[in-house]
Amino acid sequence: MLTFDVEDWFQTENLRPAFPVESWDRMPRRVAASTRVVLDLLASNGIRSTFFILGWVAEREPDLIRAIAAAGHEIASHGYSHVMPMQQTTAEFQADVRRSRAVLETIMGSAVTGYRAPSFSIDETRLAILRDAGFIYDSSRHPFGAHERYGRLRECTVPVFPGVYRLRGLVEVELPVERVGPILLPASGGGYFRLYPERLFRQLVRRVIARQRQYTMYLHSWEFDAGQPRISVGLTRTFRHYNNLSRTLPRMMKLIEMLRATGGRFLTVGEFVAEVAASS
Ligand SMILES: [Zn+2]
Repeated sequence: MLTFDVEDWFQTENLRPAFPVESWDRMPRRVAASTRVVLDLLASNGIRSTFFILGWVAEREPDLIRAIAAAGHEIASHGYSHVMPMQQTTAEFQADVRRSRAVLETIMGSAVTGYRAPSFSIDETRLAILRDAGFIYDSSRHPFGAHERYGRLRECTVPVFPGVYRLRGLVEVELPVERVGPILLPASGGGYFRLYPERLFRQLVRRVIARQRQYTMYLHSWEFDAGQPRISVGLTRTFRHYNNLSRTLPRMMKLIEMLRATGGRFLTVGEFVAEVAASS
């Protein structure tokens, strides 16, 4: 599964000190152009994927959402405001996810059943809120303990399929991490994909596929936009955001080639969840 979180470059947690939410409407939006790079990449490879879209973006770019859906991809929710769920009260979280789902469903005219939390910031209480809001699956569990922003789901014990759990009435599709000796390394995603040597990343992906027979990759649309404005927000944040942006697209082309060579199928997360549900 290839998955993409659709948000603009100035909406990321790393750049938040420079761009508080109140400033967003004054910013020139680049998200439609960067997402179209992703759509072209997928179209040229005949792959359908899942897009977790920020409600704030969907409200302002409805044509982009319709273009993603028209290309055969799954539309899912990334919440409305990109505030980390664990920093919201449960009431604020409930309002945020319900609003995001309503925005997408109004544009689409069909049900939205998947959710991914900004910064993978999630817990069991918030999963129950997602279920009550009508979601069927969540893909926010990131078991990499060293990142300070990621949430914790402590009740993931017995998977129904490798990397997949049933929790609080939802299906939870986790992001892969791989143990290398004593170290646990994220084997998916944006920052890590741009940071690691390509060969290491591909090795990790092969190991994940061999171990659990499924693999979920995530990236953000702004990671395909090497021409975005450069802002300094301190060493760590600036590095995490901007490192190797120009390499995202060429590396992704090569990763798709490698994934294709494994002989597997590319699925949307919704399709995968339906298959798991039917067989467990
Ligand atoms: Zn995000």
